[in-house]
Amino acid sequence: MSETHATHCSECGAAVPVPSDATPGELLVCDHCGVELEVVSMSPVELTIFEEEEK
Ligand SMILES: [Zn+2]
Repeated sequence: MSETHATHCSECGAAVPVPSDATPGELLVCDHCGVELEVVSMSPVELTIFEEEEK
C-alpha cells in the first residue's frame, strides 16, 4: 500500500500530491501552475515555494 499525502500549492492553491517517501529538501512541481515547491517537512506535510536566487 502506498500512501500519498496531498497538500496545496502555496502559489495557486491546487492540490499537490506528495509521495510518502518524499524527503525534506526534495523539489516537487505543481502540475497546475508549474511552480517548484520544496518539501520542508513530512509530518505534517509542509511545502514552500522554491525560488532560485538571482545572481
Ligand atoms: Zn500551483
